[in-house]
Amino acid sequence: MSSWNDWIGEELHELDVLQLKRECMPVRNAQLPVLSWNGKKMFNFSSNNYLGLAAHPKLKEAICRGTVAGSGGVASRLIIGHSEETELLEREIARFKKTEKALLFPNGYMANVGMLTALVTSKDAVFSDQYNHASIVDGIRLSGARLFRYRHLDLNHLEKRLKSADQKGVRHKLIITDSVFSMDGDVAPLRELVRIKEKYGAALVIDEAHGAGVFGPRGQGMAHELGVHEEIDLHMGTFSKAFGVYGAYVAGKKEWISLLVNRARSLIYTTALPPAIVSANRMALRLVTQADQRRGELKEKTVWFRKQLMQKGFAVGNSSTQIIPLYLGENARALAFSESLRQRGVFALAIRPPTVPVHTARLRFSLMANHSWEQLEQTLGYIEQVNKTMRR
Ligand code: PMP
Repeated sequence: MSSWNDWIGEELHELDVLQLKRECMPVRNAQLPVLSWNGKKMFNFSSNNYLGLAAHPKLKEAICRGTVAGSGGVASRLIIGHSEETELLEREIARFKKTEKALLFPNGYMANVGMLTALVTSKDAVFSDQYNHASIVDGIRLSGARLFRYRHLDLNHLEKRLKSADQKGVRHKLIITDSVFSMDGDVAPLRELVRIKEKYGAALVIDEAHGAGVFGPRGQGMAHELGVHEEIDLHMGTFSKAFGVYGAYVAGKKEWISLLVNRARSLIYTTALPPAIVSANRMALRLVTQADQRRGELKEKTVWFRKQLMQKGFAVGNSSTQIIPLYLGENARALAFSESLRQRGVFALAIRPPTVPVHTARLRFSLMANHSWEQLEQTLGYIEQVNKTMRR
């Protein structure tokens, strides 16, 4: 029998050999377009702070104001109740998403896990895009529901899977998808998914972590941009990305939300968000709805940056959003590319399995509205330089 220490050593060694070992690293100013790493300033392409709000003075002020009453969430909401600010924030989210109700969760991971475990059991089937976020996969696993993964964005495959579930006598069918995929920057065909959900009598639930704030009128999200928000049963979104703070919500019909209040264990058995965060999220929601200019700038920069990469012959896949992957293939190549860019002052980390499929390691460029044009131009120059040195 091997000892714990031997086993842990072997596991870490194997990760190292496969070029899959991760380290947590200290970084300063991750909220800004220029961060500092090991004392060196670098263009920051690794945050999800798409609108550049995470360093907004009004959000810092809101955090301070929120803390006047105290620092902690103190207990689960089901034990201690919730503050007036929480009540207001949930109403404001519901208005923003045009749903009857909204429910706050501590973060997006817990929202997905809580929502799925509340909605489905081993009697049900969940149809999940192959590239859905890990929190969705974990939620399905924990729920015990039958998992039917369909190939990324492949609606024919989804329909085949729905038909096969019908033959197996499942109780309820639930289709779940990211609206904007976090590692590929492509978009789910929500209009077609609505048609399919209706055809098969399924529910449709979407994760707008990367869509809310960036797309749709006033940043309401991709479902609103595509005009299908009313057909979506539950909308999950986060405050940690375009909104620049922390926390998440699920929005939908009041009965659905009521079921989550009663069954979502990641809500019931955890402490509520601290008041500072609730206060900042209210301000973030206000800032996001007024951020048309930032959204416009982000879009303009994204379209330009992606076009430049494509013209230079780089593979960016089907990205059509602020998330632009540069596909490099093997882990070692992605790591070396990322390291060479860092030496030149560009911070874009390599994304490797299990986050993405094997042989598809990539750099993920995540654009911010307040990246300057010069920063983008210089970055493109460095990408070309690194590419040339690596081909030699
Ligand atoms: N869903 C998606 C699509 C995500 O990308 C993320 C975060 N990376 C989450 C959920 C989890 O959100 P949070 O970081 O707030 O836990």
